[in-house]
Amino acid sequence: MTYDLCVVGGGSGGFGAALAAARLGASVILVEKSDSLGGNAVRGGVNNWEPGVGGTGIPFDLYRWLRDVPNAIGITSFGQHCLWRGNIPGGESLIDPARHYADSLRRYGSRGMGADEEFCRKYWHSVTFEPAAMADAMETLLAETGQCRLLKKTIFTGAQTDRGRIQSITLDNGETIAAGFFVDGTADALLALACGCEFMTGQESKEKFDEPNAPDKPNDHINGVTLMYRITPTATEAPVPEVPACWWRKGYPYAFFAQYPNGDLAINMLPTMEGREFLQLGYAAAYSECERRVRAHWAWLQATYPEYRRYCWQWFAPALGVRETQRVVGEYVLTENDLLAGLSRQQHPDIIAIADHAKDTHGVGSHGCGELAEPYGVPLRCLIPQGCPNLLVACRAASFSSIAASSCRLSRTMLQLGQAAGTAAVFGITNPAKIRTALRRQHAQVDWPTPPSLAAYLN
Ligand SMILES: Cc1cc2nc3c(=O)[nH]c(=O)nc-3n(C[C@H](O)[C@H](O)[C@H](O)COP(=O)(O)OP(=O)(O)OC[C@H]3O[C@@H](n4cnc5c(N)ncnc54)[C@H](O)[C@@H]3O)c2cc1C
Repeated sequence: MTYDLCVVGGGSGGFGAALAAARLGASVILVEKSDSLGGNAVRGGVNNWEPGVGGTGIPFDLYRWLRDVPNAIGITSFGQHCLWRGNIPGGESLIDPARHYADSLRRYGSRGMGADEEFCRKYWHSVTFEPAAMADAMETLLAETGQCRLLKKTIFTGAQTDRGRIQSITLDNGETIAAGFFVDGTADALLALACGCEFMTGQESKEKFDEPNAPDKPNDHINGVTLMYRITPTATEAPVPEVPACWWRKGYPYAFFAQYPNGDLAINMLPTMEGREFLQLGYAAAYSECERRVRAHWAWLQATYPEYRRYCWQWFAPALGVRETQRVVGEYVLTENDLLAGLSRQQHPDIIAIADHAKDTHGVGSHGCGELAEPYGVPLRCLIPQGCPNLLVACRAASFSSIAASSCRLSRTMLQLGQAAGTAAVFGITNPAKIRTALRRQHAQVDWPTPPSLAAYLN
């Protein structure tokens, strides 16, 4: 069968692409290897959209859909533990019914983390959600278009190309899918890999992109990996567990606690495993080693901080939370210099998404956490791999330097990249002005400060 667009991978980026194109009337097929949409935000247990600009188009549609479902989504403020300053080693985000979606759409740069607790409490608000409800919302929005065939539990296995152009892809169920255009949302850009595109892995040297905070020499550090886990409140207090010292090699890492709308907590160790160790072990062995470490972390939390004895264990996320692997080399590579320049000094005519998350790496080789002075833009060229004219990469493996990826990788930014990719697949990638106009019409944010009409739409 031939489709206008074939999207591989149904995480935030892939879902955004499929929905945007289907809403514009394209015939779309979305291939997802697991049993649900949502990728890392659902199966990875990362039920948190951190504060940041740009979450206005499809992310806001998802929010509005979930707002009417009991215990599905909420806006948070910091609880008693604010960014490493409480008595627990981390921070906690708790549901705050007084807040609105628009409150979650700004990070406020250097006024944030580490600078001013009162400011963070007043202005930093995330969105947290029930992962299964998010997956349902995604499927329903796609089904409403009447234009998207969804294949779950189906794995993309190979691509057939002719002079760089993808003709079709093959699936593990034996099907061959032909399409005019393709979007790679697999998080690791596996479709681009199968097409022979060029990739970057590890941290680039200062010389490579002239980034002020890059290391002098390239290295193989990648952002750390976390196995998310979930705990639920109980009426009775648990007995104090024993935590043998041999369970953990050195000090336990900081963790971030994000409340689910039903009162459970998602625990995000920062991180559970070094990125390099993950690559060396491979996915299955890394998952099982992370399980062991998470059990140790949970026992240690209960032994050390009595407030956690009033919770019991619920689950490990079914998928390991992987922040970074390889990144494709596109027509433009977004670098730390774009992040530092911000929209006011970037000169790109093809900005299709904006973001303001900090430079944010975890574990050994961290670039450190660097807040940004103002939002920056992501050019469409970051989604266009070199030499493959009918493919866009709309996932965390798009064309970002290692430092830029540490900021750009957030779920709502991936939804934005997807929305732009799906729109570009319909309008053609050679006319960025037309794509930007179409995105504005879809209430996606490509301008800063927020235009008054968009601010009014969000209320
Ligand atoms: C531990 C952790 C904590 C984080 N915390 C936050 C946070 O607080 N806030 C925030 O906004 N972001 C956070 N992030 C970042 C964010 O969650 C991810 O970067 C983002 O969701 C990735 O989206 P994606 O679309 O690139 O990939 P994914 O969501 O990983 O989607 C990729 C999809 O492709 C599918 N796939 C892969 N291979 C194939 C194949 N061969 N065939 C078919 N399908 C395939 C996968 O099953 C998956 O569904 C965090 C990330 C991690 C790891």
